[in-house]
Amino acid sequence: MKKIAFYGKGGIGKSTTAANVSAALSERGLQVCQIGCDPKNDSTRLLLGHICRRTVLGMVRDKDNVTAEDIVHTGYHGIRCVEAGGPEPGVGCAGRGIIVALEKLRTLHALDDQDLILYDVLGDVVCGGFAVPIREGYASDIYIVSSGELMSLYAANNIAKGVQRFAVRGGVRLGGIIGNGRNTPREEEMLRDFARRLHTRLVAFVPRDIVVNKAENNRQTVLQYAPDSTQAQIYRDLAETLLINTDLTVPTPLSFEELEDLVAQYGA
Ligand code: ADP
Ligand code: MG
Repeated sequence: MKKIAFYGKGGIGKSTTAANVSAALSERGLQVCQIGCDPKNDSTRLLLGHICRRTVLGMVRDKDNVTAEDIVHTGYHGIRCVEAGGPEPGVGCAGRGIIVALEKLRTLHALDDQDLILYDVLGDVVCGGFAVPIREGYASDIYIVSSGELMSLYAANNIAKGVQRFAVRGGVRLGGIIGNGRNTPREEEMLRDFARRLHTRLVAFVPRDIVVNKAENNRQTVLQYAPDSTQAQIYRDLAETLLINTDLTVPTPLSFEELEDLVAQYGA
C-alpha cells in the first residue's frame, strides 16, 4: 500500500490537487482513499459532491460504537473519503482531532485493503497533531504544495523541517514539491530552484486555470467536469509521477533570510 501525504499552507490548493490526483488514480484502476486532516473538513468535497457531514471526530463524539461504515464514505469512482474533523472554532485542539481520527481508522482496520492512501494535511500550524501522519509513520512519501509566494514557501520550508526531524528515526521522506501557480514572477523556475536547494525536486507545476474554479462551483474535480481539458491531463501526469517516484530524500531546509533572498532574486 502506498501512503502519500500532501502538506502546505492553508488555501494553497492541497485539497483540490489531492482530489484530482485521487480521481486520476482511481480512474486508472487503483483503490484510493483520501483522508482530510484539516479542520475545514472540505478535503473530499469535490469527490463526495458535498461537504462531509460525518467526520471521524464528530462520530466518535456522538456515538459509542463507531464502525468503519460510519466514517469511510464512498465518493466519485468508488474513492473512499474520510474527514478527520475538528473542534468548533475556538474550542479544543485541531491537531488532537487528527490523532484520534487516525488511531480510530487503524483500530477499525477500515483502510487495510487500499492500494493508495492520500493524506491531505494543513501545514502552516506548527502543532504536533498535524505532524502525526509524518511522525507516526502513517505516510511515507511527503509532498509539499506551494506557490511562489513568500508565505507559501515559508510554510513549505517549515514542513521540510518537520520531515527532516522525523526522517532521522523513521522512514518518512520528501517526495518533492508540487507547484500550484499563483502567477508570481518566473514562478515555475523559482520553485524549481527552491526545490533544488531543499535537496528535492519540483515534481509538477500546476498552472492557475479557471476550469478549476468552474469545476469547484459544480462540486466536481476537473477530471470529472472537464476530462478532456489540459488541466485534467496535468493532474493525470502528476498522479502518474507520484505513483512511480522513488526519488525520496531527507530535505535540507533554508533559513528565512535565504527564502527572502530567493523571492527577491526572482521577483525583483
Ligand atoms: P487548501 O486545501 O490548500 O486549503 P484548496 O484546494 O481548498 O486549498 O484551494 C483553495 C482555492 O484555490 C479553491 O477555491 C480552489 O478551487 C482554488 N485553486 C486551487 N488550485 C487552483 C488552480 N490550479 N487554479 C485555479 N484555482 C485553484
Ligand atoms: Mg484543504
